[in-house]
Amino acid sequence: MSCDVLVIAPHPDDAEIAAAGTILLLARAGRRVVLADLTRGEMATRGTPATRAAEAEQAARLMGVAARENLGLPDTRLRDDDATLAALVGLLRRHRPRLLLAPFPRDLHPDHEAAGQALRRAYFLAGLAKVLPELGAPHRPELVVRYLQHDVPEVSFCVDVSAVVAEKRAVIRCYASQFSDDRSHFVRRLDPLERVESRDRFFGARLGCAAAEPFSIEGPLCLAGLDLLLGGRP
Ligand SMILES: [Zn+2]
Repeated sequence: MSCDVLVIAPHPDDAEIAAAGTILLLARAGRRVVLADLTRGEMATRGTPATRAAEAEQAARLMGVAARENLGLPDTRLRDDDATLAALVGLLRRHRPRLLLAPFPRDLHPDHEAAGQALRRAYFLAGLAKVLPELGAPHRPELVVRYLQHDVPEVSFCVDVSAVVAEKRAVIRCYASQFSDDRSHFVRRLDPLERVESRDRFFGARLGCAAAEPFSIEGPLCLAGLDLLLGGRP
């Protein structure tokens, strides 16, 4: 079954931290969004694969996504290799998204980088009929949008998520296992919610709204005309 948007995340919670507001807005607009986690987060300092799976399921329900799956690739050992390519090509051909929402291929976390790089290859090769034909009919999404995680090297546009700030907070709070009073393992000593809310407020302040999520695309974005820019925010 095809979907409007396929969101691919290296670990359960990455998609929510980076883009839960945008996912919530898509689902509310009636778009069919499917989420795929590449690993079970089994190497995380806190939580177990079972608790992470239950948390991910709860978060998916709150966001209103149509489906969520986990590819079970090895946490902390994601590579842009042939096994990962096959898993991603199969995923893209199974869900046949119009838009692929994927990690930016440069980030502090090596798994995030590897996932971003592997998806760049899989996006193209999934469209070639002679590549892994046993994994289904070729399919290439119309557009790839990169969400940004620990690092924000390039921003092409932001989505105003002011209307769903409270809902995004509730979604990230689903991952209770990832919060702790002991801050020693947190990246930059901020828990996931503090980190992303600071970021979203920063971009909101630049744009004149309460909160915004940044994204990156390769190459120019095609608009039907400038009228689009006059209908909403300046
Ligand atoms: Zn991650």
